[in-house]
Amino acid sequence: MPVIGIDLGTSNSLVSVWRETSAELVPNALGSVLTPSAVSIAEDGSVLVGQAALDRLVCAPEYSASGFKRFMGTDKKYFLGGQTFAPEDLSALVLRKLKDDAGQWLGEDVNEAVISVPAYFNDAQRAATKAAGRLAGLRVERILNEPSAAALTCRLYDQSTDMKALIFDFGGGTLDVSIVDCFENMLSVMAVSGDNQLGGRDFDRQIALGYCEANGLDLDLLSPLAQADLLQRAEACKRELSNRKETLLHIAAGEAAGKLVLTNQKLIDMSGPLFQRMGTPVRRVLADSKTRLREISHIILVGGSCNMPVVQAFLSRLLRREVGHPFSPDTVVGLGLGIYAGIRERREEVRDIIMTDICPFTLGTSVVGSREDDTLHMASIIERNSPLPCSRVKKFRTTTANQTKVHVDILQGEEFYSRDNLLLGEMTLNVPPAPAGKECVSVRFTYDINGLLEVEGTVPSTGEVRREILLGKRSGMTEEEARQRIQALAALKRPPHEEEEARALLAWGERLYAQTTGDERTAVVLAVEDFLKACAAGGPVALARGKKVFREVLERVEKFSAGYGLLPSDDMDDADAFDVDDNDAADADPEGMGPPPSGSVLQ
Ligand code: ADP
Ligand code: MG
Repeated sequence: MPVIGIDLGTSNSLVSVWRETSAELVPNALGSVLTPSAVSIAEDGSVLVGQAALDRLVCAPEYSASGFKRFMGTDKKYFLGGQTFAPEDLSALVLRKLKDDAGQWLGEDVNEAVISVPAYFNDAQRAATKAAGRLAGLRVERILNEPSAAALTCRLYDQSTDMKALIFDFGGGTLDVSIVDCFENMLSVMAVSGDNQLGGRDFDRQIALGYCEANGLDLDLLSPLAQADLLQRAEACKRELSNRKETLLHIAAGEAAGKLVLTNQKLIDMSGPLFQRMGTPVRRVLADSKTRLREISHIILVGGSCNMPVVQAFLSRLLRREVGHPFSPDTVVGLGLGIYAGIRERREEVRDIIMTDICPFTLGTSVVGSREDDTLHMASIIERNSPLPCSRVKKFRTTTANQTKVHVDILQGEEFYSRDNLLLGEMTLNVPPAPAGKECVSVRFTYDINGLLEVEGTVPSTGEVRREILLGKRSGMTEEEARQRIQALAALKRPPHEEEEARALLAWGERLYAQTTGDERTAVVLAVEDFLKACAAGGPVALARGKKVFREVLERVEKFSAGYGLLPSDDMDDADAFDVDDNDAADADPEGMGPPPSGSVLQ
């Protein structure tokens, strides 16, 4: 049975496998290796996953969702088309789609996967990811940190040297920075840091806010449809800026009508605080791993947002060297998972690679602060970034006279007060009555490579020992609950593989219909009608021809509605802006770019 590797992203997911002597990315039914992590329930009750769902997010937002990875491990619920979904249900639908696509491509069933998560994910988020795999009918024995996967890809490509890599993973919703150390066949994450609320989406929002400001609008007061439309256009503009100097965000009519000419320099000017936040985890990871900048041999760019010239320029300055490497930031994690799938299958070429990991968060217990302040504080036992496996013990004294019980909270997190950290479990130990501080308990935490935490509490004076196994075991679901949820998800229809392209084209058409007016809208309507006729006529040749024509019309309308180079004649004055600011406007060449606004020098 093949093992598949899945990069389950906030914005896009990839699936990859080990074939013969290398990792290969698996294309989906639409021929793309990137599948947007979006889910939509269609009118006929079937589940659409990927590009079609992303398009429906604009025209049928109440039936569609994306970005749910940000809420893995929380109680958030999504209501789509009258049904309730937890974030892990939606992730399960994405995983099921990737599993089906991989099965189709490989020509055999798949039931085991390695899934990656940001190194910064806490235990609840990891457990939710495993649960999602289970709900999708996948055995998930190993969760891999995304930076480890990225480093694996580079390692296989560049085996000649010792390598100490700084991995900057800037995706749609999260930023993760890590340092990975490689020597011979060993590969180890040394430190991780990040900001799990910072990503490409924040740039989209910044552009949308800039657009609103320029046009006297208030983003929050726009209807949900207009907001979704504007954010989708802002994202398209941002991508355009990765390839050209200047772009135009233009909405011809409706409540959000207006325009904004955007250059990379303008984007830098409007996103100061975002750049400031990007520098913080880089400094922290270097400090935590006691690494000097000049010891870093490789800088690995990961995540779609690293395609942005402004991000690359910022990093070049921050890290004082050119950044860039042979891998596309979009696929470097996905490929690493394919390599890891090969390791799990014990393929000859890769089976000797040894990967070690670190504990990405601090584990500890509560102690009373001081006599004046009885708020509970966190006392760390295993500090974040400790190499795994890891076992540490600490002693704690009683705080009151004749105390007979010592309560041990088991906490995870970096916050000062216990209440702000995640409570993983509790344990109570009995101690003989004695004056305050005379009795003590010793608490040992052992955290292994599979994410299992064993807590052992001992009372030295009586010899009492208690053990508790936590973390890795928590799936948040009982057997019965898992069974019911698997059934509920299985009951949701999925469109047949061969229909997927047509459905995706139709969803695209619907989105453009919602986003356009006038002649463009008429063109969309006519094209949809023609395409439906071609579908009804049957026959593979007619259908293929119909798809081609339909796609061409949609591409034209998309271009036109985005307004590239198509300013109406009375707007020609503004069009001059295309030529004037050659000096200020940054182009794709990072050297030509003004300095990012802040935090650009490492201390
Ligand atoms: P995740 O790991 O969160 O799924 P990805 O690595 O797929 O994210 O990155 C998605 C983000 O990258 C989105 O915000 C998207 O807008 C952005 N992105 C993708 N390609 C480009 C590009 N060429 N230029 C600018 N931004 C891009
Ligand atoms: Mg990613």
